Amino acid sequence: MESQLLSALEQNAPFISHLKAAKPLYWSNPKNSTLEQGLDYVGFTRSDIQDASARLTRFAPYFMKAFPETTITKGIIESPLVEIGQMKSALEAHFQCAIAGDLFVKLDSQLPISGSIKARGGIYEVLVHAERIALKAGLIHQYDDYSKLFSPAVRQLLGQYTIAVGSTGNLGLSIGIMSAKLGFSVTVHMSADARQWKKDLLRERGVEVVEYQSDYGVAVENGRRQADSDPSCIFIDDENSKHLFLGYSVAGERLKQQFSEQGRIVDSEHPLVVYLPCGVGGGPGGIAFGLKMAFGDHVHCVFAEPTHSPCMMLGVMTGLHDSISVKDIGLDNVTEADGLAVGRASGFVGKAMEHLISGFYTVDDIKLYQMLGLFKESEDLFLEPSALAGMSGPVWFHDKSKLVQALNVDPACITHLVWATGGGMVPVVERLEYLSKAMAIPK
Ligand SMILES: *Cc1c(COP(=O)(O)O)cnc(C)c1O
Repeated sequence: MESQLLSALEQNAPFISHLKAAKPLYWSNPKNSTLEQGLDYVGFTRSDIQDASARLTRFAPYFMKAFPETTITKGIIESPLVEIGQMKSALEAHFQCAIAGDLFVKLDSQLPISGSIKARGGIYEVLVHAERIALKAGLIHQYDDYSKLFSPAVRQLLGQYTIAVGSTGNLGLSIGIMSAKLGFSVTVHMSADARQWKKDLLRERGVEVVEYQSDYGVAVENGRRQADSDPSCIFIDDENSKHLFLGYSVAGERLKQQFSEQGRIVDSEHPLVVYLPCGVGGGPGGIAFGLKMAFGDHVHCVFAEPTHSPCMMLGVMTGLHDSISVKDIGLDNVTEADGLAVGRASGFVGKAMEHLISGFYTVDDIKLYQMLGLFKESEDLFLEPSALAGMSGPVWFHDKSKLVQALNVDPACITHLVWATGGGMVPVVERLEYLSKAMAIPK
C-alpha cells in the first residue's frame, strides 16, 4: 500500500504539490468519457432511477398530509431553478472576468422538510425502509394511497425499528426529521463539532442525539456498532448507500423538466455545465448520474471541494479512491464548509462515477464567505458556506478559458448551473453571524 501510495503521488506530482499547499486548483479529469462508455462503470441503469422516482411519487400523498408545506408541489420534494443575472455581474466584477452565457442556481437550500440537498437522498432512504416494513406487515399495498401511512398503526409498527446514522449536520437533520415523523425510533450519532442548534432541533422532534467528544469517524463507528448488535436497527451508511445515491439521481429528470418549462434548450450547441459541491460524494455523484441520464453528453459535471478537504479529487486523480485520505498529503481537513469537511471520499461513488465527471476544483474558505456575501447582496438569497462551493465554478469557465474553448461552442450559448446545496434550516442568529463574517473580509 505504502509503495502504491508513493508512486500514485509521484505520477501526479505537480497537482499534488498544489493541493498540498492548499492553493485553489482546477483539475480536468483525463478519465472523463462519453456517457455510453462511462455507464458501464456505474452499476445502475435508467430503470433504477425510474424505480426511485416512482417510489417518491407513491409517497407524495403521505407528504401532503405529514408535511403540509409540500402541498403546493403536490407532495413532491423539489427546489426552484432560478436565473441569477445580478450574481453573474457581481462575480464578474469581483473576480474581474467575463462569464459568457447565462447563470442559473438550483436552490436545494429551499427544499422542503430539511432545507438541504440531503432532503433528496436522506429522506428517500428512510422511505425505502418504511415502505418495505409496512408492505411486509400488510399495512399497505403498492397501489394504495400512501397517505394511509400517516396513522397511529403505522407509527406503532415502525416504532419497533430503529434508524441510526452518524452525521455532524444535514444528513442527520434529514434522516432524523423524516424517521421521527414516520414513527421510527431514531438515533443520530454526532461528533463534538456539531452545531448546538442542530442537536436542539432534532431533540425537539423526538430524535435521540448521542454526542461524542471526538470526530465524525468515531460517531459513525458507534452508529454502525449499534446496528450490528441490534437486528431491528437499520444503519444508514453515507459512504456506501445505493439508496442515498439513487434518491439523489431523480434530480436529473426533474431538472430537465424545469429547463423545458422555462423554454431553455440543452443540446450539442447549448451545453449545460453544472457545478456541484462534494463531501463524501453521494450527493453530487448521484445527481451527476441523474443529469447524465437526462441530458447525455450535453451536460458537463464539475465537482467543487474545499482546499483543505479535496478528498474526491485526490481519490480519482491517484486512482486510490477510499484508500487515500487528504491527511496522507499533509492536509488538515479543517474548513468552515462543514458539509464538505470529509478527508476520505466514498470509494463506491468514486469508482462508479469517475468516467462521467469533467473536472474537479478546490475553493478556499475566504472565497466561500465572499460569495456568501455577494449572493446575499446581489440576489437577496442566503446559503450556508458549503453551499457556495459551486459558485466559483463559472469563474474557472470564464469566456477566455481553455475550459470554455474545449466545449467547442459559441460561449454565449453555455448555461452555467450552480447547485446550491443548503442553508434553509440555519437559524436567524447563525445567519447573521455568517453574514457579518462575510462582510468583515476586505474586498
Ligand atoms: C452533504 C452536503 C454536500 C455534499 O454531499 P456529499 O454526499 O457529502 O458529497 C454539499 N453541500 C451540503 C450543504 C451538504 O450538506
